Amino acid sequence: MFFKIKILYYFFKIKFERIFQLHYSKTYKKIKIFFFLKKLSQSSFYSFLNIKKSRFIDIPIINKSIFMKNFDLINTCGITISQANEIALYSEKSRDFSSMIGDVSVGLSSGTSGNRGIFLVNESERAKWVAYILDRVISLGFKRQKIAFFLRANNELYESAKSKFISFNFFDIYIPFDNHLKRLDDLCPSILIAQPSILILLAKKKEINKLNISPKKIVSVAEVLTKEDKEYLQNVFNCKISEVYQCTEGFLANSCSEGYLHFNEDFLVIEKKYINNEKSKFHPIITDLLRESQPVVRYELNDIITEKKNCKCGSKFLAIEKIEGRSDDIVILLNSKGESVSIFPDIIRRTIILSDSRIIDYAFIQNDNIFKLYIESSCDESFIKAKNALVKRFSEYNCNNFEIVQISTNKHKIGYKKRRVINENI
Ligand SMILES: [Zn+2]
Repeated sequence: MFFKIKILYYFFKIKFERIFQLHYSKTYKKIKIFFFLKKLSQSSFYSFLNIKKSRFIDIPIINKSIFMKNFDLINTCGITISQANEIALYSEKSRDFSSMIGDVSVGLSSGTSGNRGIFLVNESERAKWVAYILDRVISLGFKRQKIAFFLRANNELYESAKSKFISFNFFDIYIPFDNHLKRLDDLCPSILIAQPSILILLAKKKEINKLNISPKKIVSVAEVLTKEDKEYLQNVFNCKISEVYQCTEGFLANSCSEGYLHFNEDFLVIEKKYINNEKSKFHPIITDLLRESQPVVRYELNDIITEKKNCKCGSKFLAIEKIEGRSDDIVILLNSKGESVSIFPDIIRRTIILSDSRIIDYAFIQNDNIFKLYIESSCDESFIKAKNALVKRFSEYNCNNFEIVQISTNKHKIGYKKRRVINENI
C-alpha cells in the first residue's frame, strides 16, 4: 500500500511541476542537477567529484561497455555484477521475475549475449517510473484501463502499477504466439503495448479475423518503428500509434499529440554528440536525474537521432524527427577511390521499401562486401527490384565493389529486437 502512496505522491508532483511550468524552468532543473550530483558522491566510480568545485562537464562521458565494466563501482547498493547476473539469469530462465536483492529489483535488457545490460532499480525509482508512465503514456483517468503488455520479461515495475483504475496484463513473448490470441481477445484491452515486430504479427492476425481487439491506444516500444510500419498498424487497428523510447538506461522519450517523440527533459539532461557534418544527426548523451541505485551519468547511446525543430505540439522538450537504430548498423563500403563510405540504415530501409510496394518485410545484412538481402513479397520480382534499387543507390556513392545475394529466411526471432539493417562486420 505504501508503494502506491509513493506513486501517487510522484504523480501529483509531476502535475504540480507542469501546472506551475516548473518542468521548463532552467533554475529548477539546475537545483535538481545540484541535488543529483550531491547524491552521486555515494557512487565509488564518481567519488572524485567535488560538489563545490566540479562542473557537470568535467564528468567523463561513458558508454555501455564502460558502464557494465564498472558495474560494481557505479551502483550505490553494493551489488556486484555476479550477484546481479545470477538473479537476472535465474529470472529469465524460470520466468519468475519477483526476485530482488533487498528492495532492489534486477532486470536484464534485451540484446545479443555479450551486449546485454543489467539494470537495478529501488522502490522509490520504481514509483517515480510508474508515475511518469501513468502521466505520459497511460493518461490516467477515472475510466478503468485494461493494459496488455507484451514483454520479453515481466518486471516488478509493471506489476506495481496495478490498481482499481488499471489492470496490467503481461504477455510473455517467449510463449508460442498463437497461445496469446484467445486471452488477448477475452481481455479486450483498451491499451496495447508491444514492440513493433509483435504489433505487426498481431495486425496480421487481425487482418485475417483471428484477432478482434480494438484498443483505443497502441504504444510501440523497444524497437525502431518505421514510418511504413506505423502507417500499416494505424490502418489495421484504426487508431493512432504512440511511441515510447525506453531502454535499459531509462524512460527517455514519448510521443506528443503530433506523433513526434520528445525527450523527457524535465528529468533527463540530454547532450548531443553530432555524427555528421551537417549536424543533423547525433548520439544522445544522457543523464537520468531519477536514477540513484545505478546512476546513469553522461552516458552515450549509439542510437542515431535526427532532431526535429519546432514541433507544432508546443512542447519545449527536444523533439526527435526519427531514430535510425544504432550506429553499429551503419553500412560501410569502399568507394572506387578506396575510401570508406558510411550509409545510414534509414537510407537502406527507404531504398528497399520504395523499390516495390508489394514488399511486406525485408532484412539487409552486411558481411564484408557481401550483402544478404531477404525480401518477403507476394511477387518474386520484388527481390530483383530491391536489388537494382540498392545497386543504383550505392553507385551514387561511387561504390560498386560488392555482391547482393538473396536469403530465404529472416534471422529475426520473436522476442529479440528486430533490426532490419544489420552490419555483421562490427
Ligand atoms: Zn511535439
